[in-house]
Amino acid sequence: MALDGRPRLNLASFVTTKMERAAENLMTEASTKNAIDLDEYPQTTAMQQRCVNMLARLFHAPLDACEDGTGTACVGSSEAIMLATLAMKWAWKERRTKKGLDVSKPNIVFGSNIQVVWHKACKYFEVESREANVSPDCLVLTAERAKPLVDENTIGVCAMLGSTYNGEYEDVKGIHDMLVALNKEKGWEVPLHVDAASGGFVAPFLHDKLVWDFQLPNVKSINVSGHKFGLVYAGIGWLVFREKHNLHPDLVFHVNYLGGDQSSFTLNFSKGAGTIVGQYYNLLRLGRTGYTQVMTNCASNAYYLREKLLETGKVEIHDKAHVPLVAFSLKASIRCGIPPSTPRNRCWPLFMQDKLSNKGWIVPAYTCPPGAEDLAILRVVVRDDFSRDLADALLSDMLKAMDWLEHHPATHHAKHAGHIKEQRQKRRERKAEDDKARLEKRAAADAGKPEAEAAAEEEAQPPLIEQHHIHSLKTDPAHRSTGEKTHGVC
Ligand SMILES: *Cc1c(COP(=O)(O)O)cnc(C)c1O
Repeated sequence: MALDGRPRLNLASFVTTKMERAAENLMTEASTKNAIDLDEYPQTTAMQQRCVNMLARLFHAPLDACEDGTGTACVGSSEAIMLATLAMKWAWKERRTKKGLDVSKPNIVFGSNIQVVWHKACKYFEVESREANVSPDCLVLTAERAKPLVDENTIGVCAMLGSTYNGEYEDVKGIHDMLVALNKEKGWEVPLHVDAASGGFVAPFLHDKLVWDFQLPNVKSINVSGHKFGLVYAGIGWLVFREKHNLHPDLVFHVNYLGGDQSSFTLNFSKGAGTIVGQYYNLLRLGRTGYTQVMTNCASNAYYLREKLLETGKVEIHDKAHVPLVAFSLKASIRCGIPPSTPRNRCWPLFMQDKLSNKGWIVPAYTCPPGAEDLAILRVVVRDDFSRDLADALLSDMLKAMDWLEHHPATHHAKHAGHIKEQRQKRRERKAEDDKARLEKRAAADAGKPEAEAAAEEEAQPPLIEQHHIHSLKTDPAHRSTGEKTHGVC
């Protein structure tokens, strides 16, 4: 564990790294309870429902005063998105079956900037993914980009409130209005889902005039990550439906073996109740005012970082100041000591990532999605625990890194980039060797070698303990010596 990065300095992640001590205590207490035991833990179940109710109202679901919202707690937005995909597929299938139409070719439409879970959902649930390419000057899905991909077999269109790559809100209203017009013209009922994993807890508090949620009648479902700007530790997301009938009853399962009739709409069964309690605590404790204060603070720290980076005159900003983050690349006109022969766009962010990781900062460098692959950017997510002091410290290290690159002979950079590549290649080769050795050993065992011979071979191998820990032993020290880290865009 000592070799892990420090969560607070992990600026790659949206996931919460700081909660109040009182919330932590309650969550620990609740972790002895299984959230799926609805009947045994009626209070926790009620908390879950109250969270759904609050979120449904926050997102303007058309509910009567005392009506419950329709939705569920999930492990994260990923589970919520899998469930939303199933709900869209079932609704589409039912509509088509009633009309006697073919149901063998469902598809779903989104931008190439989509989060990886949508690709999983498509593969796992056998739905064709139709992706609209983005471009370097517009990194998100637009109505024009989505329209040609929609047809009678489209189970839904997904718009993102907070693109993973640059935190930009997609034009949900524009996409919605295009879809409503298209449905009317063609006699379809293609719904819109909003993936508000990051923005669902930001927009209602910072951009409350923005119309993106159930105020738009064809938005039928929304997911949001409680563990991102919902300010709860990892392990909670929410799926909320516009109305009860948007969730097909066939997808809700009833069991009685935990006592009483319990209904659930989840992919997994058991999980700790701590994160639900944490979410409920935050919603009550912070309320609208508290969330607005936290989000305003995050946004103003992001603004500060962005302005200071712009002051260097060397970077180009790629976020739109929507979700609190700063996404940037090296300005096209700046060579920053990089020789013309090296691909500047890809090298500079990698170099920065590497230099910053030597100081403990985790700042991911990544290339943009199809349509803008040549653009590589760095992204700093500004969470609640990223203080102004930390922003200053990060800026100081960033400026030093930029300076270093500029004032060292260009070959350093080329060598450096080569070094990273070399290290990766070496790791790949080592892994291939390990795999080969393992396979050979297994083949030898299968061939029924005499026991003594096998034992002698075993002795020649490194001790067993090292075999068990081979993954961590091999990767971590390599990371430490090169400063290299692998990051997912999460
Ligand atoms: C983070 C994210 C997800 C996945 O959410 P988890 O809560 O990590 O499972 C999906 N979509 C978008 C846009 C995200 O930002």
